[in-house]
Amino acid sequence: MQLGNIARARGVRLLTLGDIDSTNEEARRLIETGERGPLWIVAARQTRGRGRLGREWVSPAGNLYASFVYSEFEDARVAPELGFVAGVAAIRALRASAGANGFRLKWPNDVLLDGAKLGGILLECLNAQTSPVAIIGIGVNIAEAPADLPYPARALSSLGPAAPAAEAFFERLSDALAEILEIWRAGEGFAQIRDEWLASAASLGDEIGVATANETLVGRFDTIDAIGRLILETQNGRRAIEAGDVLVGPRKTRGSARMTAAPQADFVFAPFGGVGEIGMNLALYGFGTPRARKWLMVDCGLGFPGADLPGIDVVFPDIAFVEKIAKDLVAICITHAHEDHIGALATLWPKLKCKVYATPFAAGLLEVRRLNEPGAPNIDIHTVSAGTVLQLDPFTVEYVAVAHSIPEANALAIKTPLGVVLHTGDWKIDPQPGVGNRIDEARLRALGDEGVDVLICDSTNILREGDSFSESDVARVLRPLIAEAPGRVLVTTFASNVARLRAIAEAALACGRTVVVAGRAMDRVVQVARDCGYLDGLPGFHSPDMLPNLPREKTVVIATGSQGEPRAAMMRASQNDHPSIKLVAGDRVIFSSRTIPGNQREVHRVINNLCNLGVEVITDHDHLVHCSGHPRRGEVAQMYEWVRPKFAVPVHGEAHHLTQHVAFARSKGVEHVISARDGDMVKLLPGPPSIVEQLPHGRLLKDGDVVIGEDDGAVRERNKLSFAGIVSIALAVDKKGELVGDPDVVTAGVPKKGKFGEDMGEVIDEALFATFEGLPRARRRDADAISTAIERSVRGAINSVWGKKPIVHVMVVSAS
Ligand SMILES: [Zn+2]
Ligand SMILES: [Zn+2]
Repeated sequence: MQLGNIARARGVRLLTLGDIDSTNEEARRLIETGERGPLWIVAARQTRGRGRLGREWVSPAGNLYASFVYSEFEDARVAPELGFVAGVAAIRALRASAGANGFRLKWPNDVLLDGAKLGGILLECLNAQTSPVAIIGIGVNIAEAPADLPYPARALSSLGPAAPAAEAFFERLSDALAEILEIWRAGEGFAQIRDEWLASAASLGDEIGVATANETLVGRFDTIDAIGRLILETQNGRRAIEAGDVLVGPRKTRGSARMTAAPQADFVFAPFGGVGEIGMNLALYGFGTPRARKWLMVDCGLGFPGADLPGIDVVFPDIAFVEKIAKDLVAICITHAHEDHIGALATLWPKLKCKVYATPFAAGLLEVRRLNEPGAPNIDIHTVSAGTVLQLDPFTVEYVAVAHSIPEANALAIKTPLGVVLHTGDWKIDPQPGVGNRIDEARLRALGDEGVDVLICDSTNILREGDSFSESDVARVLRPLIAEAPGRVLVTTFASNVARLRAIAEAALACGRTVVVAGRAMDRVVQVARDCGYLDGLPGFHSPDMLPNLPREKTVVIATGSQGEPRAAMMRASQNDHPSIKLVAGDRVIFSSRTIPGNQREVHRVINNLCNLGVEVITDHDHLVHCSGHPRRGEVAQMYEWVRPKFAVPVHGEAHHLTQHVAFARSKGVEHVISARDGDMVKLLPGPPSIVEQLPHGRLLKDGDVVIGEDDGAVRERNKLSFAGIVSIALAVDKKGELVGDPDVVTAGVPKKGKFGEDMGEVIDEALFATFEGLPRARRRDADAISTAIERSVRGAINSVWGKKPIVHVMVVSAS
């Protein structure tokens, strides 16, 4: 095999191989190692051809099996046009090398000889969102047509002596493609290519049938439109068809194997948060072809930063990619009202402005917050409830009730023409959840019977054996702990756990104690829970300023701050610093909560403070005063049994959880389990699923009232400052290069004495003057030169007596 002269002159390369699984597969592997083309890969034989729907593509020797790798275009949306480019090139090369006239192109991707299939084109586009590379696979029957096909096939050799050998044909093909790519110019010249394609089109103007994924349409094949769709004049009007099989003739015999060069629709999943960490859950589902995809967003949550981000209160997923596709975003569906699922809406929604669907409880919390935050956006919220089915074309989304540590949690069954995905959201199986829904086992089983293709499931408690406890178990334990306490009882818990609030309030009611609620987050939840009826039958709660008037043994305080948050009621009460919550020896504090990893130090500080006050502390180490809202292994196993998914993608977990969940799902017999991370685009369907792309992703940091990018230097500098402080020096220099007055030196975060008792101020002065005087006079008039030299020497001098280098800023002012 060799390339033609034109191809060679254009810098095209050639790789020839013997037997290979398929040239498209080989191209894919090379692209993964950085290949960008233009490169032809030609094989003597394919042991496993690629066809749509995994069909076998039989491959006798002597035929042409080739793939062309090409990346000289920037926008993946034009890639499908390359199928037409290749078709036109194939026709030109066939006519030039075989001198026959019966060659035709059949939409979207077949090459015919006198109506029988001679070859096909298989187009793939990788890295569509970042730097697209196309693989154009071309197969032509030269020596022999495969036998036993369900449609008529021919080989070039049937033309007799006029038939070219594979080598001669390939040489022509490589030149023809190089020439036509020059006309194409990344899509600019597509109109000309389309005209040439139509001039060779089979059945143009004829009555044909077209089988799409959903239906078979009959009509007159009118044309191919500007973006390559087949336009069919049907009885009910013109239809534009993106992908399908053309059925030729009145008997509608299937005319081709289902190989397609037209863009193939797929159903993808792309998480931007919550997969590889706990928190800031936000994911996209996409359906369509890479050039025309519609998107659905599930949840829009925030996360809490670790100690590596000083001064940052919360983090959001970076949605640069979502902003890019915002016009194709059909909706945002919220699974439940936890902050890690809705907390980023107020900040991110204004960039997207699409419809948001949430339950009344979630919508109520967003509304209460909006009213309390001037300038908060008025989000376009539509309320839904368990059982609601939304038509969000091309998605159908069904809300399915699950139990969780907040009312109105839902799984989402997301349907597209390619299949069904069950996105569990956060869930558990709790036969007596107290408030809110029980898990809708019947509906989940029914979905399993109807067929769930992919399960996207919560991994939070996958490391824990057995089943989680029920809210009713916790309620039973809390009751005597509250009734039998000698003094005041303070219970701290997660504000949003309404079932817990209710259990505490019922326990209080049973023993004649008045309930006082402390903390803004708790007030908001109580207000919304009352509106939704979740606190019906309970007397009203009081605010903390009532406490001085209430007997200690007749009160229960429910307070925020179970994670040791510095400004919350719990921390302040433990420091005896709360205006109205005073705790004394004989009082009892119950942590009806779990300490989230990362908060241990703060929580221990609160507990130690309380012990110093003589207060009795009860945590979930002592009694069952808390249970998780997430499924343990036993419950996850149940979900897999109910739903019986073909494929699974574990989410809502750190790497350790996800890895364990992948192994667990495999052990449950799930065919393909994908270990995805934030930023992966997973093609879910048609299966088997695989990670097909990396999308831009990251974190946005809420810094005061400003949202900054992760790469903004502010937090990095803040880290440095917190480690070694700062020295600021200001000095004035006149025209002759002499110091005017004394330099001003201010330090922050630097110790006063060095390791041998050196005065730090003197160390700085010495270095400063010595360096200044050591500079040649000419350099002393150069402000930059002065500041660079002094910065360096002061930092060095401090390091020699302290062992740490602070940030040093020198400002030089020219005095006249
Ligand atoms: Zn969550
Ligand atoms: Zn949750």
